[in-house]
Amino acid sequence: MRFNSNWNRRGFLGTVGMIAGAVLAPQRLFSLNRAAPVSTKVSGFGRTGNPYEELGVTTLINCEGTMTTLGGSLPHPQLEAVMTMAGRHFVSISKLEVAAGNRIAEMLKLPGDYSALVTSGAAAAIQSGLAGILTGGDEKLIRQLPDLTGMKSEVIIQKSHRNPFDHQLRSTGIKLIEIETVDDLHAAVSNRTAMMHFTNFANAAGQIKVDEWVKLARQYGLPCMNDAAADTPPVSHLWDYANMGYDLITFSGGKAIRGPQCAGLLIGRKEMVANALLNNSPNEDTLGRSQKVGKEEILGMVKALELFLAEDHDALAKEWQARLELISRQITKVPGVSTSFFVPDIANHVPHMRITWDEARISLSAEQASKLLRSSKPAIAIGGGEGKPGLAMNSFMLQPGEDKIVAAQLTKLFHEHAA
Ligand SMILES: *Cc1c(COP(=O)(O)O)cnc(C)c1O
Repeated sequence: MRFNSNWNRRGFLGTVGMIAGAVLAPQRLFSLNRAAPVSTKVSGFGRTGNPYEELGVTTLINCEGTMTTLGGSLPHPQLEAVMTMAGRHFVSISKLEVAAGNRIAEMLKLPGDYSALVTSGAAAAIQSGLAGILTGGDEKLIRQLPDLTGMKSEVIIQKSHRNPFDHQLRSTGIKLIEIETVDDLHAAVSNRTAMMHFTNFANAAGQIKVDEWVKLARQYGLPCMNDAAADTPPVSHLWDYANMGYDLITFSGGKAIRGPQCAGLLIGRKEMVANALLNNSPNEDTLGRSQKVGKEEILGMVKALELFLAEDHDALAKEWQARLELISRQITKVPGVSTSFFVPDIANHVPHMRITWDEARISLSAEQASKLLRSSKPAIAIGGGEGKPGLAMNSFMLQPGEDKIVAAQLTKLFHEHAA
């Protein structure tokens, strides 16, 4: 339960001032009268503790996982406290980026010539990482992007690795060259090639695997990026791909790392990371100026990684599995309902449960079930249909007690539709 011990609904309901006050008061960090009193009483918007509902937007029980469209993940109270501290001072953002990057490299014990950059998300890390490779430190070229005159103009990617996030490669102006085999790769490499891109979750789908891809890049003397945005846990992925030799690796901050929602990480060779920063906010007249990262996100990302590294990940996986089993025990009492468990090999590598039922006994399609749960009270987000039978859920974003609510709602739904 350590995952939840400090992570209660009150933290979620936003009495940030109270949390910050509790942490800060003994250290008297704020001698100026800017210090928030121990409990900041919110009047007007936010007074109920749930500003979402005040706007008429329903909050959800999240059985789908770290989906950006649902708000990613919820922060640890200590993360909220550090982000509040961040908002109390002015600082040079560029200097802060470099210092935070060095600290992160140290925390992750990255190879000596690696550092890190906090970006506004993994998508931003992909774009700025590639932009840095294209422009180097040349100010004229940085201003010129996405006009690639005088720069390399192609990135090689396996056909099966194409995904919506390669838009952030294409936004630099480059053309993606799709290949399938090592022979295709050989034919595709030219003096226009800027980089070889790998999509970590597509490892199984492609003919060239993650370790071979980076070796081939070395062979051709080309920089190599791995988009591993959603691929923690395991926590070791944070350094595995750097150790494997990838020049740049991207991670989401706001997914399983439970960092600030609008943060991500670019890990990579020092010079490439420095060139990525030159192409990123706060620097103006750059492609990445639209990817602003605040002092709150930068400090928040350092804290989130510290908390994530300290977590007992085996105990967490057990806790997540236990929640699914609790739900399973309850719902399989309904005649015709069965469950099975699985863990995706990569990306959202956490316990999942598939829930299926005999539609002759329960007259409900998976799509209907998913829709009804989404509009029930409380509302539950749970994936259904999408080409596979039944509903699929995970439990790692559930809040304390929500497993019981999900079990009860599902049971009720199945009974209501019993033939
Ligand atoms: C989520 C995701 C991204 C984008 O990450 P953000 O942190 O939301 O910008 C990129 N690539 C993959 C594979 C992802 O799953």
